Formats: sequence, C-alpha cells, structure tokens
Amino acid sequence: MSAVDEFRFVRYETSPNGRVATISLNRPKQRNAQSRGLLVELGLAFEEAQRDDAVRVVVLRAEGETFSSGHDLGSSDDRAERADGPQQHETYRSHGGSLGPGVEKLLMQEWHFFFSNTLAWRNLRKITIASCQGQVFSAGLMLAWACDLIVTDETAVFADVVATRLGMCGVEYFAHPWEFGVRRAKELLLTGDSVSAEEAYRFGMVSRVFPTGTLQERTEEYAQRIAEIPSAGSLMIKEAVNQTQDNQGFYNSLKAAFSLHELNHAHWAVASGGTSLAQTEELGGGDWRTAGPVVPARKDSVKATP
Ligand code: ZN
Repeated sequence: MSAVDEFRFVRYETSPNGRVATISLNRPKQRNAQSRGLLVELGLAFEEAQRDDAVRVVVLRAEGETFSSGHDLGSSDDRAERADGPQQHETYRSHGGSLGPGVEKLLMQEWHFFFSNTLAWRNLRKITIASCQGQVFSAGLMLAWACDLIVTDETAVFADVVATRLGMCGVEYFAHPWEFGVRRAKELLLTGDSVSAEEAYRFGMVSRVFPTGTLQERTEEYAQRIAEIPSAGSLMIKEAVNQTQDNQGFYNSLKAAFSLHELNHAHWAVASGGTSLAQTEELGGGDWRTAGPVVPARKDSVKATP
C-alpha cells in the first residue's frame, strides 16, 4: 500500500493505459475548501504522478458541485488540524509552524503551503489540466492557474474575494495580471465580482467549456488526446511557454506580490493588536462570514443583482 491509498481528502487514479493520472479533490461537503491535510495530500499526489514515467498528463478535478471555494477558514477538520492535540496536522509544528510570536511564522507557513507548493505544481514535469465546475474562488484560482490548461463546464465561475472580504491584496500566488489582464485584474480584485466560464474562454484563460453533465467524461477524452504527444515534445512546449513567461518577469512578480501579501497580513495583525490576520468590522472592513453572495461582473451594471 502506498501513501496515495491512505489519502483522506484527495483521490489518485490512473487511466487503464497509464498515461493520464487523475487527482480528485474529495471534500465536496466543504466545497473542496483547502485544509492543510488536503494541500499536503495534493502535493503527494502530484509527486506520485511525477514519479510515474508512464504518466504524461495529470488532471486535477473535484468531487461535487464546487471545484474549490478557497482556503479552509474554519471547518471542523481545519480547526482540529490547527489546534494543539492528537489531531493537529504535523506541519503546524514544522515549516515555521513552531516559531514564536511575530510575522515570520505566518510568512514561512504561507510560503511553504500556499506559495512554493503552487509554484512547484506549475512547474511539474507533466502536462496538467484543471477540470473545473462551480465556484473557483480565491485559493481555488491558485490550483486552476497552476495547471497548464483549464477546462470547465458551463457552471464554472472564477473570483478572488479576499480583497473585498478580508482586506487582502489577492491570494498568495498572484497570477491575476497574467491570467485576467492588468486592468481586469485590478477591477476584479476591487469588486470581488466573478467571471463566467464563457467569458474566461473568450479571454483565453479557459480552453474548453463542455456541456454541464459531461465534464468528467470530456476531460478524460481531452486528457487522452493531449497524452498522445510524447512527453519529450509536450514538456518542451510547456517549458518554452513557461520560460517565456518567467523571462517576462512572472516569477519575480509572484515573489514581490507574495511579500506585499505578507505585509498586508502584518498590517491587520498590528492594527488588531495581534488578534486578526485580516480586516475586521472594528477596523472598518466587512466580515467575510456575513458577506453577500459573489455576483458576476457585468458591463452594463455597477453591481449585478444576485
Ligand atoms: Zn495569506
């Protein structure tokens, strides 16, 4: 039995011909919110795909109606794995997790589990395809963006709500300007509004919008089509494009934005006297727990009605 057989939050399978590995986020009741356990298992699953020389393409998909609603901010799993005790996830005692008061602990934890893991998945030595339905919100975007291609059904909607709900300058992996375009990135962060799969297809972020109800089947067929290309060719394509983006400043921009993100957390920590890493109502911001629904960005209205 290998580690993948013991996963709780993620499922790992390979196709009969061995060419396609499928990783499924498997917390549908929590809308695939990203707990530490899920993120660590996801990293191990990507590593398993990378270890297997037969695998050419990795599909990242999700059970349920939601691809991922973002980082887990308080489910029972999340609370248990953060708190001291037998259920605490071991990585809350390592990777900076055991450091004392100050910003360093958060910086180290977010670096390891939100930033550098996402970047490593973006640089995986396999072609990766995100297969998305429903909400792809905030940290959900990080998982989709780390993949080489994104396919969806008609229900997929994309939004980063951390600015409007938490007072933060976007999620830790700041690919927004590269994915949305510069002006759209600002607008979507300042409003927290969403873009549809159809619109994301039009501006090139999404490659296919399959009819709702067919996503899993079509994604498998699409992945098999991409997997026909020998990896010697497909990985050179991936690298040629990724290196171009890196030479345009992608990596350094991500690192710079991550530093701003940590400065942003530090601001709220200082302003709240160390009680909060994000905006609070007392500090003039809204409370994310009582925020209204995310609405689509529409060209003809200030704010769409839900
Ligand atoms: Zn953060």
